[in-house]
Amino acid sequence: MLNVEELLNKVEKRLFIGGEWRDGSAGETYDVLNPATEEVLATMSSGTREDSLAALDAAHAARREWERTAPRTRAEILRRGYGLMQERKEEFATLMTLEMGKSFTEAKGEVDYGSDYLLWFSEEANHFFGHTNLYPAKGNRMVTVHKPVGPCLLITPWNFPLSMATRKIAPALAAGNTVIVKPAKLTPLTMQYFVQTMVDAGVPDGVINIVSSTSAANVSEPIMEDPRLRKMSFTGSTPVGSSLMELAAKNIIKVSLELGGNAPAIVFADADMEGAVAGVKAAKMRNIGEACTAANRILVHESIAAEFTEKFVAAISAMKVGNGMDDGVEVGPLIEAKAVERMQELVDDAVAHGGTILTGGKAVDGKGYFFEPTVITGASRDAKVFREEIFGPIAPIFTFSSEEEAWEMANDTEYGLASYVFSEDPDMMYRASDNLEFGILGFNSGVVSDASIPFGGVKASGLGREGSREGMLEYTEVQHIGTRDPYQRVK
Ligand code: NAD
Repeated sequence: MLNVEELLNKVEKRLFIGGEWRDGSAGETYDVLNPATEEVLATMSSGTREDSLAALDAAHAARREWERTAPRTRAEILRRGYGLMQERKEEFATLMTLEMGKSFTEAKGEVDYGSDYLLWFSEEANHFFGHTNLYPAKGNRMVTVHKPVGPCLLITPWNFPLSMATRKIAPALAAGNTVIVKPAKLTPLTMQYFVQTMVDAGVPDGVINIVSSTSAANVSEPIMEDPRLRKMSFTGSTPVGSSLMELAAKNIIKVSLELGGNAPAIVFADADMEGAVAGVKAAKMRNIGEACTAANRILVHESIAAEFTEKFVAAISAMKVGNGMDDGVEVGPLIEAKAVERMQELVDDAVAHGGTILTGGKAVDGKGYFFEPTVITGASRDAKVFREEIFGPIAPIFTFSSEEEAWEMANDTEYGLASYVFSEDPDMMYRASDNLEFGILGFNSGVVSDASIPFGGVKASGLGREGSREGMLEYTEVQHIGTRDPYQRVK
């Protein structure tokens, strides 16, 4: 049985810059809380602007040697990192449950998902080709190469403390880049332990640096104002992503943005009922509803709405709420007190817009930031639960009467990340693809994340893709070499 105190002692609380663990230069610290108990788990060093620039110095200094390291060597380090993460699965999962709240089962799932990026990109590192060709009309040859982009700043959110970072770090390193990671201050411990693990896997000094801080701007501003930075990849909310994009404009820094979502889950009249209930539940309740891919608006054909709602309410109300470390718990606490207040505000607003609460609807008394899994029907489209990202365990059900109306309702949002469709008509997959303005479509599936897929959104949900070969291209610049062809081509 894992000893939690020993584990917490083992995790480094300091910054990691140029291969050295060090305190923040101003000596400031901040506490990390357990959202299930409100107890302090650890006290972290907080980085200053000077520390952030020192991390950029280190990433810049290590850049050339890492670029020139053989792809196979880079791949082997990532592969060793993957192996160590698998060996340390219980430790990583415990840290995630303690600092973020998700159930231990889901946390172990995230270790698999997050470590898979290391495995996938360790393979990709060895098979990453450019191409060669002739200029079609002239006597020249072309060689196209994908070069590492240069030092990268990687900013990650608290909801998936491991996988949102590994899906940036693994392709960045595989492509030959050095990185500075800034984890969310609510959940830094998982990433600290990941960096320790990568050091054990043999990552050279300066290739990975980590600076967490009470002030996100202490990290992002000085680094992004410095022209040595060449790439910024951010996962988080749309307003912060937008402000970082403005900051990136000054030095024309390449950006990838994985932002908020407002996913529709459309259940057509011909859907397999049991499959749809299970699929929508998975899409809605994964990670306590705190997922960018979470089914935010459940759109059900009016002819099956009563049956779907009854079965869905039964499934949601049976979910066990509690401390994620306890056996059988499926719904842990929300990340902080503010999030509980926001859930209450959303429920009250939905009721004010004609909604009826069928289960849940309020915070759980006692310690910890718990909110009951909630299902609401009948709210109008002006309600915040239709218009805004919920990011918690509230499932609003709306009805539609025609396919056209379903597409129109689904697209009525500024977001465009995930969408879900449940139907037994195989043609519906292509009709949905043609009509839905989203980067991801789950067809009869509530699970859409994997290292092998190009994950990302359109509209206010972001720019660029993570995972798959596309995820690696985000960390490269294309260079074209034009060279003389020795032969006279016949025209
Ligand atoms: P957030 O935008 O508040 O924070 C994300 C990260 O940005 C954190 O590390 C935070 O410290 C940092 N940050 C905040 N202000 C900053 C600033 N001015 N400059 C630089 N960094 C700053 O988001 P959050 O609450 O941590 O995460 C939830 C959001 O993330 C939701 O909107 C969710 O949809 C989105 N998300 C998107 C994806 C995706 O793949 N599209 C995945 C997970 C989460």
